[in-house]
Amino acid sequence: MDAPVRAQGLAPGTVNGEVRPTVETEPVPSDGDAADDPAVWVNPDDPTRSAVIATDKKSGLLVYDLDGSQLQYLPEGEFNNVDVRTVPGRSGPLVVAGERSGNAIGVFELEPGSRQLRNVSAGGLEPGVEVYGSCLYLSPDTGRLYVFVTSKSGDVEQWELVDDGSGRVAGQQVRTFALDSQTEGCVADDEVGQVYVSEEAVGIWKLGAEPGDPGEGTLVAEVADGGPLAADVEGLTLTTRPDGTGYLIASSQGNDSLVVYAREGDNPFVLSFRILGGMGVDGVTHADGVDAVAADLGPAFPSGVLVVQDSENDEGNQNFKLVPLDQILPG
Ligand code: CA
Ligand code: CA
Ligand code: CA
Ligand code: CA
Repeated sequence: MDAPVRAQGLAPGTVNGEVRPTVETEPVPSDGDAADDPAVWVNPDDPTRSAVIATDKKSGLLVYDLDGSQLQYLPEGEFNNVDVRTVPGRSGPLVVAGERSGNAIGVFELEPGSRQLRNVSAGGLEPGVEVYGSCLYLSPDTGRLYVFVTSKSGDVEQWELVDDGSGRVAGQQVRTFALDSQTEGCVADDEVGQVYVSEEAVGIWKLGAEPGDPGEGTLVAEVADGGPLAADVEGLTLTTRPDGTGYLIASSQGNDSLVVYAREGDNPFVLSFRILGGMGVDGVTHADGVDAVAADLGPAFPSGVLVVQDSENDEGNQNFKLVPLDQILPG
């Protein structure tokens, strides 16, 4: 028998709590290990018409509706990680994705009405590192937009993205720093000016996100035998509340779970969970990229949604699973 939806969330301290996706996206176009990373855009005019933007790392970008149906397939490259921000002065949110075949930063604008992406890169966004992961940072101090590009060598580049005057987006590298080994997932906390980077075999680092900040960070969560965090550490995401609290959620690929830490302070462990099947959607194994937003997205996701890559979809190519956030996070 299916377990009931836990509308109150999991209790703090829970280890390997069980939640269930209620929606899955259409499979990605490419076969094999192809789905990688999602990003959720919350539509401010009609949250039920928000969008999940996701990568097929072999062929392109996808846009999905919250019911999992595909709205767009943009076969324009080997996009690995994707992130989204609403930037003042633009008619639609910017979607930025690291593209591995051309070793470039792809920049797109999502048209809010049609929820279709169009390429707005001015070109020349070519990092010196071999592109692997990427994430955006919108500075609370300056309003400037940055992208962090991570790499298998552990070297990280920070680029500033700017409108070139014609609506297209150009940029320049403003900072580099290095971790000791392969890095991919990252997420910035725009309100406090910090960025979290996962060193896949080691743990999660926190650094200042401004270009002038030191290149040395703090290891806030470490991979350990027995967990809760097991290598590879993959996707990272944040949920935020106006009072400065919230959660940092990490995809702990090695033990098929996700681990939740407090957003604030030294990021103490809160709980971990697995995503099982049971509500008409198969469960998640070996999760890769993840994104979550804590916002009322309508009756299907009243407290928000967690979107995560599933390495083994039961029917067809890999896809992404959607879990109502009220099953997971403590109320
Ligand atoms: Ca990886
Ligand atoms: Ca990945
Ligand atoms: Ca599955
Ligand atoms: Ca399925």
